[in-house]
Amino acid sequence: MKIFKTKNELYKWNKLQADKVIGFVPTMGALHRGHLSLIKAAKKECEQVVVSIFVNKLQFDPNEDFEQYPRTIEQDIKKLQDEGTNVLFCPLQKEIYPNNPTLKINEINISRKLEGSSRPNFFSGVLTVVLKLFNLVQPSIVYFGEKDIQQLCVIKKMVAELNMPIIVRSCPTVREESGLAMSSRNQYLTVKERQEAAMLYCALSKGAQLIKQNENIKTIKTEMIKILQNKNIIIDYLAVVELDSFEEIKHYNNQSLLIAGAIYYNKIRLIDNIIIR
Ligand code: AMP
Repeated sequence: MKIFKTKNELYKWNKLQADKVIGFVPTMGALHRGHLSLIKAAKKECEQVVVSIFVNKLQFDPNEDFEQYPRTIEQDIKKLQDEGTNVLFCPLQKEIYPNNPTLKINEINISRKLEGSSRPNFFSGVLTVVLKLFNLVQPSIVYFGEKDIQQLCVIKKMVAELNMPIIVRSCPTVREESGLAMSSRNQYLTVKERQEAAMLYCALSKGAQLIKQNENIKTIKTEMIKILQNKNIIIDYLAVVELDSFEEIKHYNNQSLLIAGAIYYNKIRLIDNIIIR
């Protein structure tokens, strides 16, 4: 596996790839089976697979966990080699943000909902870095996880609206046995805490079950809240929204839906969702 830390090295490598199909998996590292599932999907259909590890400061608010975010580069390199990754791009902050950024990408519709209403600068930070990375890697196909479904949708919009010649693939959420969605932030939790944090998935699953029984949305939310009654949990949001618009729904008419939630478990922010198609 080639490891590049500078844009220049990546640029030189890219020039040698001619018409090869390049698959790209952007990550913030602390790799787990969720990330690896994206790399496996890329390996299946691409001639070259590039993975980036970059903890993107621009998407963290000052009160968030940028400094504490887990950084496990040695273990990550080993996992990437085992998956047959061709290139790891792991730049320093100054390589991606050489000056104080004066240009940012904003999506002004779905980015304002759910995650965006709790983290107002998040999607702008994500889109800005993802666009920079796409321009550097020049992939044909990119891979994103449904675990971060709103991020996936916002990136799909950017690619479509900016006419970028890129295919965006979505990959299903990989979970621990308890149902807890795998996340780099799970490293902050003990084994016992992870069991308890799986309650978020229990609540969303209950919501999905009740939707299928045509229960009304208000009752569904009440039932989900009941499951999350725990002294260690603060609910940020629980929502039943239309999949494409992220608009909250009042009635279920067999449209594609998303049941999404964010909680603070002992101050650690966890998100998850279930898609109903
Ligand atoms: P992150 O390193 O958290 O920025 O995630 C990098 C990519 O991995 C994103 O596309 C995420 O949606 C995806 N991802 C993270 N966790 C999971 C998971 N449990 N299952 C599937 N994909 C995931």
